[in-house]
Amino acid sequence: MDKTSAIYVAGHRGLVGGAIVRALEAEGYENLITRTHAELDLTDQAAVRAFFEAERPEYVFLAAAKVGGILANSTYPADFIRENLLIQTNVIDAAYRNGAKKLLFLGSSCIYPKHAPQPMREEHLLTGPLEPTNEAYAVAKIAGIVMAQSYRKQYGFDAICAQPTNLYGPGDNFDLETSHVLPALIRKFHEAKLAGEPEVVVWGTGTPRREFLHVDDLASACVFLMRNYSDEEIVNVGVGEDVSIGELAEMISDIVGYGGTIVYDASKPDGTPRKLLDVSKLSSLGWRASIGLREGIEGTYQWYANRSHA
Ligand code: GDP
Repeated sequence: MDKTSAIYVAGHRGLVGGAIVRALEAEGYENLITRTHAELDLTDQAAVRAFFEAERPEYVFLAAAKVGGILANSTYPADFIRENLLIQTNVIDAAYRNGAKKLLFLGSSCIYPKHAPQPMREEHLLTGPLEPTNEAYAVAKIAGIVMAQSYRKQYGFDAICAQPTNLYGPGDNFDLETSHVLPALIRKFHEAKLAGEPEVVVWGTGTPRREFLHVDDLASACVFLMRNYSDEEIVNVGVGEDVSIGELAEMISDIVGYGGTIVYDASKPDGTPRKLLDVSKLSSLGWRASIGLREGIEGTYQWYANRSHA
């Protein structure tokens, strides 16, 4: 990938795509191709084909996806499976047919079985039943991985797959109904502080454990993999450490400067008990995360607070 290569970042308005564009621009890549959702509907096969025929990108970062937290995933499973299958099928196929040199597909740590041994290694894919709260999304992502691997096997297309753990950072979705836990808690603690509310409600029991990766670290790993990895096996991208939801809530409460109490609502689902990635494969390739959780949350909180007062 040269500084002048034609690089298409699908989903550049999203958390991940936006961070990949920032990372590429910071490194001097000057020929980036992007399209907003209004300009190009990636679920529309004919539109995607026409776009690829016209632009013929050499490198494709497939960061466009329908994503959401535990409530959105369990409420709208049909939307999650349909949109993700369409987007990824259209983009992977059109990239291959129009001569792309390489494509990076982004999966998710929820592709691993609910009771996979922890930390989860790449070879645990397809070894057991999935977590029911996000099964539809996970099945779509698994189909994308197998599609990328199949295009490599049958056509020799250099499609690689990265599996990020739970992500967060500036540009995240802070809608309480559809977001993931970390932005939801930033918002809940911030609003409770401003309103002087005595308690903040955290869903579930607080005992599930999650690993959180700053999206700028993910973007750095994606650029690294695009440059340095060309193989069939998926690659985990994480930090290699996790925290309980209770510990996360306390850390965010502290960063926000909230003085009240934390209450757990056990009527809301916990989801999978733990999903920690084993990142030894990526470490052995030469990449490691560099943004600590506290530092990353502080930056994200600043971004959110500035924006919510704008
Ligand atoms: P998951 O990693 O796919 O389960 O997705 P989430 O980030 O949505 O949820 C992670 C964990 O945080 C689950 O155990 C949730 O029940 C818990 N959680 C606690 N409070 C919240 C909240 O306000 N929003 C969300 N999305 N999850 C929360």
